[in-house]
Amino acid sequence: MLINHDTRCALDCVVDLLNTAPDEHTPDTLTDVDALRAFIVRNTISGVDALDETDLAAVRNVRERFGEVFAAPDERGAAELVNTLVASAGTTPQLTDHDGYDWHIHYFAPGASVADHLAADGGMALAFLLVAGELERLRRCAAPDCHRAFIDLSRNRSRRYCDSRTCGNRLHVAAYRARQRESAENRP
Ligand SMILES: [Zn+2]
Ligand SMILES: [Zn+2]
Repeated sequence: MLINHDTRCALDCVVDLLNTAPDEHTPDTLTDVDALRAFIVRNTISGVDALDETDLAAVRNVRERFGEVFAAPDERGAAELVNTLVASAGTTPQLTDHDGYDWHIHYFAPGASVADHLAADGGMALAFLLVAGELERLRRCAAPDCHRAFIDLSRNRSRRYCDSRTCGNRLHVAAYRARQRESAENRP
């Protein structure tokens, strides 16, 4: 797959943000500035200083936009959503090798707010995925009691469950059963 390391990290960040959103099974976990700060530390997002309620509201809005891309019925719909998101973030690609990291591209403008940072870099990562024809790797967990987002990076795009503890176990059980079935079928 034509997905480089930076894109992969940005996608992980998109997924992490999406999974703070509430659904019928889990509460919203991005409800105050402290939770936003924890999210930023967890995802090692650079260049963020002070955070306030405005940032929180803006990031929650970006979270909704990402959710729409995940829910888009087709590539064209997703492309329009990504274009709008990236344009509104004032994207300006910049080569950088800050903090000892190798050369990589920041899509967010220097001094961008954290919401614009997420929209620009996450939006571009989704754009690369779309260009690579890999948009179907954006998934929601198939477990009936789980709706978590994840990126399926498996070779044959066969992953159905997220890697949370319960669903990850389910995945292992399913893989185990499949192996057993296979060896049973291969028996003479
Ligand atoms: Zn960087
Ligand atoms: Zn799950």
